[in-house]
Amino acid sequence: MKGWMSIVFILACLLWLIPTAVHADSVKVQVDNLNVRSGPDLSHSVLGKVQKDETHSIVDQKDDWIKIKWDNKTGWIADWLVNVKQEETVKSKVDYLRVRGKSGMDGEVQDYLMKDEEVTKLDQKGDWVLIDQNTASGWVHKSYLSTYSKEQPKETSESELSKSLGKVKVAAAVLNVRSKATSNSSILTQVKKEDSFEYSEEKQGWYKISLDNNKTGWVAGWLVTKDNSSSATPQSQSKVTLQYNATNLRSGPSTNHKVISSADKGDQFSVISKEGSWYRVSYKDSSAYVAGWTVKESKSSNIKSASVSKGNLQGKTIVLDAGHGGFDPGAIGRNGTYEKTLTLQTAQDLKSTLEQNGASVVMTRTNDSYLSLSARAAISNASSGDVFISVHYNSVPASNSATGINTYFYNDSTRSLASNVQSGLINSTGLRDRGIANGNFHILRNNQKPSVLVELGFISDVNEEKTVNSSSFQSKASQGITNGLINYFK
Ligand SMILES: [Zn+2]
Repeated sequence: MKGWMSIVFILACLLWLIPTAVHADSVKVQVDNLNVRSGPDLSHSVLGKVQKDETHSIVDQKDDWIKIKWDNKTGWIADWLVNVKQEETVKSKVDYLRVRGKSGMDGEVQDYLMKDEEVTKLDQKGDWVLIDQNTASGWVHKSYLSTYSKEQPKETSESELSKSLGKVKVAAAVLNVRSKATSNSSILTQVKKEDSFEYSEEKQGWYKISLDNNKTGWVAGWLVTKDNSSSATPQSQSKVTLQYNATNLRSGPSTNHKVISSADKGDQFSVISKEGSWYRVSYKDSSAYVAGWTVKESKSSNIKSASVSKGNLQGKTIVLDAGHGGFDPGAIGRNGTYEKTLTLQTAQDLKSTLEQNGASVVMTRTNDSYLSLSARAAISNASSGDVFISVHYNSVPASNSATGINTYFYNDSTRSLASNVQSGLINSTGLRDRGIANGNFHILRNNQKPSVLVELGFISDVNEEKTVNSSSFQSKASQGITNGLINYFK
């Protein structure tokens, strides 16, 4: 099968299968640019598009189609391209919990679950539970699972209300309210920009807010601002000017916080507040943190704000694939770095750099979730991507020592893409050049877009593991790949 028929077929097989009785009230979109139609089949006109990872509430369902509420309108989307939110979730109590091909100890081990990993329970046979996480399903023994009920936020009592520590205001267009102070906990609801909430607790950069319905939930601190609307003091006009190229903008006030983006020497940002030696600055529709030792503060107000769009990749769409994820950690570094964590970090950093250069970016995954190789290729094939880049880190057994970066391609027609990306990487990072090579990888072989797989260094080497973990390396790698793409498209 070729063309869209096969894409639809693959997606239908690989992506979430909807249980027959749908009592769930929302769907999570699994692909980018999914058409929303005026009626429940392909003959109806396209009203608009929804994007991967968006959540929409279900208002109706007919055959293989789901009617969703979106942008204050309603429309129909194909149910095989979305993931209906499941009710029952279970969690692994241990690391490397064996996931077997069939129930029973004789079932072949096909995967592992890591401790606290949340998966959906599909079925149970005796002591064995059939679990499903994205595209993989298998059997695990129930004694290693804890039932994880989507934490019903408890009712807020009067005494709790009185413990309000202040107010926060939503700074992002739409913000998820989660059951816990982590970005992989379940989404309870969403709130809109400018909405303001009392908060009763602050933990690891998250705020516990009180919702209208007497419930509470957690929101990411970097997507809200402390609401000072009660005080009449106008916002400070002070700005900071970056002193170095490729300065990281982070989600919180320490180098342990996630890099959201980077900006260059001379770029200026408005200061929202100062926390310790970190500045919280306005960034896009939200805010970010920048280290005080990388900036100069100025009070003058008539300075141009940072120009972020350089535009060299205007009109191009790049599909980024962060290798591994979920129960597949990829390689494990000599000091314990998980490849899956690094690849996601790099992909997110690279996404920002590409967007600053005018490109659109499609991500195969945006969190620590498992995605099969076929699903990754299917996302690429169904996208409007101009190129596909799969990000990996390398490893060799303990007895060997190897370092450096290499880039793989599959078709000879993508050789020039590989060599441009490789040169960009080597020029920018200065790591050892291992060259480009033909690699017979599933993700490249089954990809209809010009595609490459980059191995950004060996985490089996203690020094290189340390290097690639640094934010400066992450920025350099992103810049290197971006430069390579700019040259490739010239
Ligand atoms: Zn890998």
